[in-house]
Amino acid sequence: MELRNPLGVHALVWVGDTSPASVETAITKTAAAGYDLLEFSLHDSLNLDVTRTRNQLKDAGLRVACSRGLAFDADISSEDPAIVAQGEKLLHESLAITSGIGGSHLTGALYSAFGHHTKPLSEAGRANVVTVLRGLAAEAASVGVTLGLEICNRYETNVVNTCRDALRLADDIGADNVVIHLDTYHMNIEENDMVRPVLDAGDRLGYVHIGENHRGYLGSGHLDFTSFFHALGSIDYTGPITFESFSSAVVAPGLSADLSIWRNLWSDGDDLARHAHQFMINHLTAHAA
Ligand code: MN
Repeated sequence: MELRNPLGVHALVWVGDTSPASVETAITKTAAAGYDLLEFSLHDSLNLDVTRTRNQLKDAGLRVACSRGLAFDADISSEDPAIVAQGEKLLHESLAITSGIGGSHLTGALYSAFGHHTKPLSEAGRANVVTVLRGLAAEAASVGVTLGLEICNRYETNVVNTCRDALRLADDIGADNVVIHLDTYHMNIEENDMVRPVLDAGDRLGYVHIGENHRGYLGSGHLDFTSFFHALGSIDYTGPITFESFSSAVVAPGLSADLSIWRNLWSDGDDLARHAHQFMINHLTAHAA
């Protein structure tokens, strides 16, 4: 049967950086494993060759999305105008790269530093998030890019931990091209169950990360993917579903530490990615039947 969702894979399943050789490896392996979309983290985007990447993606027939979090010295949820300005600059540069490589989505923790925060978000900080993301959304709309608000757990951000937080933030930003991005790994930590957030997001759900509770092989942990995929079917979700998995076998300096990737959960990215692709197809076809 024909699947309605583009299926994606995170580049860190293959490679730890965005050098030309690594990008080529990621593109080749993503296409060979049968995926429709490749997601790049822009954590390490300085060495990404935009034109070459765009052409290689096009030649491989792949869609592309980009993701990132901000940093403590470049954080739009800060009360310090200089730190907010650095965060805003980083976001606009990331949007330019996303658009430059032909990306459809820029998503992630676009709203704050990615890492352990030591105090709650302030009202002034939240107001800064709304102002900056409203501006970013306008620019993104002009180049046909959708912005995702990825809901991350409490150890990685203090801005958006639940789907309801993200819906409120999206309401305040008030732009049609700002969508909700659910990630099953984070949902497991923060949400009551795997269904309600999907129903709450409804047609505002625009991007999905599929990951196990330990971020290893799908099905080897305890997440209730049956309920989750059923919920996606209930809302007629047709957007991207991207497999995200991390292991100490593939390290991106900086990002892997921010994600606390200390364990070796797999060594063979090819086997992992093929398994995940079939796992997602099995769930999608079962629920469609
Ligand atoms: Mn994620």
